[in-house]
Amino acid sequence: MSAVVISGKELAAKKREEMKQEVADLTAIGKQPGLAVILIGDNPASRSYVKAKQKACEEIGLHSVLIELPEDTTEAELLQQIGALNEDNSIHGILVQLPLPNHISEQAVIEKISPDKDVDGFHPISIGKMMIGEETFLPCTPFGIVEMIKSKQIPIVGKHVVVVGRSNIVGKPVGQLLLNEHATVTYCHSKTENMKEITKQADILVVAVGRANFIGAEFIKDGAVVIDVGVNRLDTGKLVGDVKYDEAKEVSSYITPVPGGVGPMTITMLLHNTIESVKRMKV
Ligand code: NAP
Repeated sequence: MSAVVISGKELAAKKREEMKQEVADLTAIGKQPGLAVILIGDNPASRSYVKAKQKACEEIGLHSVLIELPEDTTEAELLQQIGALNEDNSIHGILVQLPLPNHISEQAVIEKISPDKDVDGFHPISIGKMMIGEETFLPCTPFGIVEMIKSKQIPIVGKHVVVVGRSNIVGKPVGQLLLNEHATVTYCHSKTENMKEITKQADILVVAVGRANFIGAEFIKDGAVVIDVGVNRLDTGKLVGDVKYDEAKEVSSYITPVPGGVGPMTITMLLHNTIESVKRMKV
């Protein structure tokens, strides 16, 4: 068997085409969606993520503002900047690119963003609402993963989902979203014993560990759906996922590639959330 590839790149392109029209319609009635991105310091990876987000905004006609702050910006200065954006009516989404310099509390920054503009879905209020299934901004990577699974009409209800990884931005929320879709969810992490026995039971296996080629075919049940969230750069410069793609493709029914899988969907859901934010605003 060779798996069907779920191309995040293709799905993202289709969704962004639809969004372009939606943004044009909103702009025509004076409600152009606006996203502010704050970048602190000069981390090259962060800079390239921010650039990709800005380019995506431009492509669909979204108003985007990049605020670049020096590495030695104080926490108070950053919080003040976020406060000003919370009050700015032309801005509907605020994103602070992580990681932050060590002297700034990530949690204080996340909590300063108004939940009405929390398009990353990291605010405790957004997370709480997600847990109880209320309308909110869903975190972009997990949201994109669910969209990818649904795009192939893959059944989720009653299926066993195993998530490897339990970070606050990927592992935990993707399990929660799939639980909300009525899957039975198991989490594995660095302290899990006999992990292979657990992953082998998965109908849908989501891997978000951050270790190149960590999951081989021996971890995967025949016919499982494999979602590879990992992005790892090898010494050769090549980008690979957490899953050994070539061998996993031979045992799974569906698989996401790296690159061109989950990554493009993450930015797409950020655009989606920013557009949603405008629609939810009362004025
Ligand atoms: P993270 O915060 O470092 O979390 C990694 C998770 O993997 C932790 O829960 C950790 O367990 C678990 N883990 C580590 N070693 C393990 C092992 N030997 N066995 C089982 N579990 C193990 O990473 P993250 O932010 O979730 O990101 C994960 C990967 O996804 C990274 O490669 C990242 O670049 C990528 N990513 C991609 C996108 C995208 O848009 N494509 C977005 C976000 C992240 P403990 O909790 O026990 O330490």
